[in-house]
Amino acid sequence: MTSVVSESPSFRPRHLSPSSASTFRQCPRRWQLRYIDKLPDPKGEAAVLGTFVHEILEHLLTLQSDRRSIDAAKKIARDLWDQMPDDEDFQALCLNDDDAKGFMWKAWRLIEHYFAIEDPTRVDVLRAEQELAVEIEGVPFFGIVDLTEQVSDGIRVVDYKTGKTPNSRFVDDKLSQVWLYAAALAEQEVEVSEVRLMYLSSGSIDRSIDARAVTKAVSSHRQTWDDLCQAIDTQKFPYKTGPLCNWCPYLDHCPEGALEAERRYGPRK
Ligand code: SF4
Repeated sequence: MTSVVSESPSFRPRHLSPSSASTFRQCPRRWQLRYIDKLPDPKGEAAVLGTFVHEILEHLLTLQSDRRSIDAAKKIARDLWDQMPDDEDFQALCLNDDDAKGFMWKAWRLIEHYFAIEDPTRVDVLRAEQELAVEIEGVPFFGIVDLTEQVSDGIRVVDYKTGKTPNSRFVDDKLSQVWLYAAALAEQEVEVSEVRLMYLSSGSIDRSIDARAVTKAVSSHRQTWDDLCQAIDTQKFPYKTGPLCNWCPYLDHCPEGALEAERRYGPRK
C-alpha cells in the first residue's frame, strides 16, 4: 500500500481530538489515509443522523429555559430538515424519499426519547457546543463539548450519544472522552464536578469527577500523540485489522483490511 500524499517527516497535526486519537489507536493506517493522504471519509448514515440530532438539541438548549418544549423542538427539527437537501453529507447518503422519511423519523424518535430522559426546561445551560482548543500536558487538544451545565454540586460536562449504550467492557473507554473534556476545561480554569454520557435511546452514564480517571485519559492521549509523532517521523503507519475493517471507507486502499473483511463477512458485493 502506498501513501498518496506524503507530508514531511517534521509535520505535526495542529491538534489531536478524541476521535482522531481513537482512529489512530484503532488503526494507524486508517489515520494515515484520512489525515495525511486526506482521502475522503464520507460520513455514514449513523454519523449524519447524529449530527442532525445534535443540532436540534443545540438549538433547543440555547432557547430560554421555559421555551424548551417538545413543540419548540419540532419546529427546530422541521426548520433544520428543510436545510438538509443542501447538506453534502446528507446528499452523499443518496436516500430515496422513503429512506429520507425513515431518517427523519429515527431522528425524531431520539428527540422524543431525550424528552423522556430529561426535562430540558430544568437544564441550567452554561455553554452548548463549546469548542475547546487547549494544550494538555504538551499535547495540542481540540474537542467540541456538547454541553456544560450548572448542577447542584458544580459543573457537569455532557456528551450526547445517538448510538447504543456500550457494553460494560467499553464504558471506561467511552468515558475517556468526557474526562479529557474535564481536563481541557480545567486548562481554562473551569472545574468540572460531574460527567455524563447521555445515550438518547437508553439513558445516561454518570460519574463524579475522578482525578485518577482524568489522569489516565490524559496520559493515554499523550501516549497516542507520542506514537502518532513517531509514526509520522518514521513514515510507518502499520495496519491493524479487526471487525471494523468491514466499515472502513478505505478498503479499496488496504488489501489486508479487504481480506479481513472478506474472511469475517464473506465476499464484498
Ligand atoms: S481496512 Fe482495516 S486495516 Fe485497513 S485501513 Fe481500514 S481499519 Fe485499517
